[in-house]
Amino acid sequence: MMGHALLGASSAHRWIACTRSARLEEQVPDATSDAAAEGTLAHTLAEAKVRHYYYPADLSKRKLSGLVKKMKADPLWQDEMDGYTDDYLDYIKAAALAFDQAPYVMLEKKVDYSVYAPEGFGTADCILIGGGTLHIIDFKYGKGVQVSAVDNPQLSLYALGAYATYRMLYPIRDIKMSIVQPRLDNISEWGCSLDDLLAWAVYVKERAALAWDGQGEFAPGEDTCRFCRIRAQCRAWSDYNVKQAFDIGELPPLITAQEAGERLTALEGLVQYQKDLQAWALSECLAGNTVPGWKAVEGRSVREWTDMEAAFKTLKENDIDEAMLYEKKPLTLAQVEKVVGKKEFAEIAGGYVMKPPGKPTLVKEIDKREAITNKETAAEVFKEER
Ligand code: SF4
Repeated sequence: MMGHALLGASSAHRWIACTRSARLEEQVPDATSDAAAEGTLAHTLAEAKVRHYYYPADLSKRKLSGLVKKMKADPLWQDEMDGYTDDYLDYIKAAALAFDQAPYVMLEKKVDYSVYAPEGFGTADCILIGGGTLHIIDFKYGKGVQVSAVDNPQLSLYALGAYATYRMLYPIRDIKMSIVQPRLDNISEWGCSLDDLLAWAVYVKERAALAWDGQGEFAPGEDTCRFCRIRAQCRAWSDYNVKQAFDIGELPPLITAQEAGERLTALEGLVQYQKDLQAWALSECLAGNTVPGWKAVEGRSVREWTDMEAAFKTLKENDIDEAMLYEKKPLTLAQVEKVVGKKEFAEIAGGYVMKPPGKPTLVKEIDKREAITNKETAAEVFKEER
């Protein structure tokens, strides 16, 4: 088990932009969540599959099957994990085939980038090296936020760490980085030259020195603050949100579409910020501290059976018809897919699945889906006229 580095690679996008965040976050313990535990389970499976494929002597088929069996007993296991981790393995196989000669494959490799950021280290999911190319591949099981490999500081720090370790053994000229996020159907790839990476490292080294000393500036923003552990209390983030909500400047009678777009973007983080602040204020009230204007109370609760089996037995004994007590409901399509497993579901029941057009929804321009309008196309008008 490794601890977390103060200047961790996964939080690099934050401490590089907001150098004050690293030392402030130290004050708040890293909370675990089901999503994080689920991610760890999926990573373990993904690593095992890739290790078995490239290093069967280290992890035989029998050992892999034993491990999968054990994992299936975990309450966080989902059959769909199997398909998503297959996607990751398939991507690595294809990436390795793109090398002129079979690359050196490293899995769950600890990389040390402390030359650039004090005490900096992290664990790269997969590193391929060969033919002058260093390829960093990161598996993301989360589906909350789509992650891009472009200019990705986490992967760049892994690349710097891998370069520092392997530069004497392998000539490296080009850097490739990939994010494999199968639950969002997201494969993001990016590349740069080693020179570009090392030029970026000079900048990172300066930012890391400030972050290590708790110096520099706050840089509140949606991407920076989204997962910052101190965000509920951070004044800079609080001021930023309040500004978005209230500092609206001039008040023209009607806003333009341009302004609507800008304001929607600006207000995005406000709702989440309110939730974060409420959670923190609740913990303060529960700890016996005063948050003026607010208090903690018992929320509304729903009645529960103390012993459902006994209750139903008694009801039936008292002539309540069994048909009145139970309802038989099919699982939703998504639930069936989850229990059956993605691949098997597609094979068995895929022919019965259709996807009607979804309700029009407003999303950010970078969303992959095609834009729709209610305007008739020339082809549709022509068809109607005919
Ligand atoms: S909440 Fe945002 S502004 Fe405040 S310390 Fe964290 S990253 Fe910086």
